[in-house]
Amino acid sequence: MSQQRWGVVGGGVLGMTLALWLRDRGHQVTLLEASDHLGGLAAPWELGDVVWDRHYHVIVNSDAHLLALLDRLDLSGDMRWVETRTGVASGGKVYSVSNTLEYLRFPPLAMTDKVRIAWTIVYGSRVRDWRRLEGIPVEVWLRRHSGDQAFERFWLPLLRSKLGDNYRHTSAAFIWATIQRLYAARRSGLKKELFGYVKGGYANIISRFTAALTSAGVEIRVGAPVTTVRRDGNEVLVAVAGESLGFDRVVLTTPAPLTARLVPDLTTEETETLRNVEYQGIICASMLTYDGLSGYYVTNITDPAPFTGVIEMSALVDRGELGGRHLVYLPRYTSGDDDVLTMTDAEIEEMFLGGVKRLFPEFDRSSVLAFMVSRQPHVFPVPHVGYSGRVPAMEASIPGVYVVNSAQILNGTLNVNETLQLAARALPILAGEVGYEPALLERPVPPLVPA
Ligand SMILES: Cc1cc2nc3c(=O)[nH]c(=O)nc-3n(C[C@H](O)[C@H](O)[C@H](O)COP(=O)(O)OP(=O)(O)OC[C@H]3O[C@@H](n4cnc5c(N)ncnc54)[C@H](O)[C@@H]3O)c2cc1C
Repeated sequence: MSQQRWGVVGGGVLGMTLALWLRDRGHQVTLLEASDHLGGLAAPWELGDVVWDRHYHVIVNSDAHLLALLDRLDLSGDMRWVETRTGVASGGKVYSVSNTLEYLRFPPLAMTDKVRIAWTIVYGSRVRDWRRLEGIPVEVWLRRHSGDQAFERFWLPLLRSKLGDNYRHTSAAFIWATIQRLYAARRSGLKKELFGYVKGGYANIISRFTAALTSAGVEIRVGAPVTTVRRDGNEVLVAVAGESLGFDRVVLTTPAPLTARLVPDLTTEETETLRNVEYQGIICASMLTYDGLSGYYVTNITDPAPFTGVIEMSALVDRGELGGRHLVYLPRYTSGDDDVLTMTDAEIEEMFLGGVKRLFPEFDRSSVLAFMVSRQPHVFPVPHVGYSGRVPAMEASIPGVYVVNSAQILNGTLNVNETLQLAARALPILAGEVGYEPALLERPVPPLVPA
């Protein structure tokens, strides 16, 4: 294989990983990112005087690809594992459901419901072939295994919190993938929960990753919004900020509907497939406070609330990392028709703080030091029943153009490990080396042709 000039569009974790691997294979690589920084959804931001992830991120011990990446970036020594607790806000109270005993005591559910829910989780964790579940609506599957009452009281609020009304079209593969990931955080069955983070958060990971790309020789261009990707003769031309860059091959890692707009010469069928991928978005507020709320890393909410969960990052991360303060995320997963999308940040802050006060009556607004709102329209594709039959292809009909993005993650549990796994599936196609599997990112693959 000879050296090729590659353009990688999108500098999130996916684009960064593909850029590094393609460079490992000896290619000349340019990474093009629209914003002024790399990292995409995993990028950090400044909240008051604290720099931490713009969106909450945890690592579980089954994140093999991610742990291998951290190893390659020399960050394994910065990993911290912490036993965390989980709460449920239900009927005006917040209960701890952090271990089996507490779960069995959880008053809002009848004992028969609890047993059936536990059975559903254990059964789900043992299913190996998720494709069997992809043809079954999640509601049908959960009612079958947990019963109607447990579905209405327990599963439905959780499904709505992540998927809104889209839960009606979602397949059981979604709950399977969620169970698999959460189960992996529990060391043994339904006992204790162990989550991890890297010292310094994703700011540390992204900055090391950027340094690794630079020292490998990847050309990084931030503030480079790509407007079109077209084939012209022997080249693929990428229009970016008034310039036209020529490459042998280009891979787009941008969300599917954006990708459809960037590549105008795709066939009608390709364009429609990309456009028809329905994404859940998010409004994710970050709040820095003097006082904590509950000490649970996650509080699931079954009562009506303006946000769909509470993530208290300071219950996981050493508060020394956060200047001694508490960091709380208030996520609200949204679809295109959510009225909140038209609200200003100040209105969202007012509404969310009111919701916090209702859930945690001790909460004092004067304890809030900083409050910021992130809006992301494209977080994960809704895993509709039969979704794997409608996934966009990685190799486009235009020679030299490839499409690799979150729409190719099939069961709705978007996380960095899945993103890296997607990159590992894509690379043999991009590199044109059938059967080549990048070994869990742990070591740079010796270049076939030095660049
Ligand atoms: C609220 C939330 C919570 C999460 N929690 C976790 C967690 O606990 N654990 C975990 O492992 N993962 C978590 N994730 C998922 C994780 O962040 C994603 O898996 C990962 O960041 C996806 O990376 P990506 O590169 O595929 O997409 P993105 O990060 O979306 O990257 C796409 C990039 O393309 C760029 N772009 C767009 N248009 C253009 C253009 N025209 N030209 C050039 N560039 C362009 C964008 O600016 C962006 O940087 C969470 C995500 C969110 C939103």
